[in-house]
Amino acid sequence: MQYDEIMVRYGELSTKGRNKRHFIDRLGTNVRDALHKFPDVKVHPNADRMHIILNNTDSDQVMKHLSKVFGIQTFSPMLKVAKDYSAVCQAAKQMVADQVTKPVTFKIETKRSDHHFEMDTFDMNRELGGFLLEQFPDLLTVDVHHPDVTIWVEIRVDGIYLSSEVIKSAGGLPVGTAGKGMMMLSGGIDSPVAAYLAMKRGVSLEMVHFYSPPYTSEQALAKAKELTGKLAHYCGSINFIEVPFTEIQETVKEKVPEGYLMTIQRRFMLRLAVAIAERRKGLAIFNGESLGQVASQTMESMRTIEEVTNMPVLRPVLSYDKTEIIKIAEDIDTYDLSILPYEDCCTVFTPPSPKTKPRIDRAQKYEKVLDIDGLMQRSLDGIKITKIHAGDEFLNQNEDVFAELL
Ligand code: ATP
Ligand code: MG
Repeated sequence: MQYDEIMVRYGELSTKGRNKRHFIDRLGTNVRDALHKFPDVKVHPNADRMHIILNNTDSDQVMKHLSKVFGIQTFSPMLKVAKDYSAVCQAAKQMVADQVTKPVTFKIETKRSDHHFEMDTFDMNRELGGFLLEQFPDLLTVDVHHPDVTIWVEIRVDGIYLSSEVIKSAGGLPVGTAGKGMMMLSGGIDSPVAAYLAMKRGVSLEMVHFYSPPYTSEQALAKAKELTGKLAHYCGSINFIEVPFTEIQETVKEKVPEGYLMTIQRRFMLRLAVAIAERRKGLAIFNGESLGQVASQTMESMRTIEEVTNMPVLRPVLSYDKTEIIKIAEDIDTYDLSILPYEDCCTVFTPPSPKTKPRIDRAQKYEKVLDIDGLMQRSLDGIKITKIHAGDEFLNQNEDVFAELL
């Protein structure tokens, strides 16, 4: 069915008191961003509800995009008709014919903000309910307490609006209302899920991705970018920051005892992510670590890696099991990309048995022989930033996928 308006309910942010206006403005901006492909759509973020006027734009397409915008609890597509009872009847009849395929209970619920309209809410409920019962005697029975279907009728000054569906949306808080963070995005399963969860709490993210050519391929980089394109559906667009890591990895490999390779590499990654955050006004670092999954994800290891900074390092999937993470990855459509078998820079120089309880004093001692500032500076000089939009694709040659698999 082609609708005229989508009415958006805010949910959680309706309770945000003083910040409410800021939240609603931000949500308005994000919705406009998500719908930028539809030039005729008009977005009106009012205090209690947002009204999205479709102006003949395909309502299914608009709803598909809208369902991914954080900060929207539910929305309802609405038909608009002239202020005329028979027009209301025709529209309601069309709705039932379209949506009701098996016998259901129903009720009509009318709201009237235009008190000059000739029928009051009671009249409308009764008359329209009676009309629909006559039209669909085999499908409809009335139940005013627990109906399967409610048809809402809103009599406004500019017309009468009808809706019958409440569609659950992404929930969460509008991206951007919680400040900016740097997401350490690998090509794995966990970090895209962590990114999704951070955005859901209103964080606007920039992706920081370390790559080590020639040890990691162009395809590995493309995969991380394409994952970013999937995640951009939830916020419009995301900056992707690629950070060259080859020289650091080669130097660490040469100069640091094997048991501490992983720890020292991670300390460098974190230092670089923090340096980038400081330049770009980020307030925290996010990563995809979950407790106890691998050697670098023990608390001792986290402590020794985090010692290089006092910026918060936040881990949205810390307490999740792998199966829970995979379930979310499937829901947000990153899983199939994440399992493509491209080498990540972390797997390139991973020792067979990294220390699970690395010590801060040892890490500091092994780093004494390294030119930390020089290594970091050269890496930072080589960063490249790309703005990635929702659905952008970077991996497209199937031949290469198979070539790497062989
Ligand atoms: P993931 O599935 O996210 O890769 P993982 O369980 O494989 O996580 P690790 O590979 O040890 O664990 O990585 C832990 C975290 O370190 C990642 O979730 C990510 O935040 C960060 N990280 C690892 N490799 C990179 C990389 N090449 N670029 C940016 N961040 C990375
Ligand atoms: Mg990984």
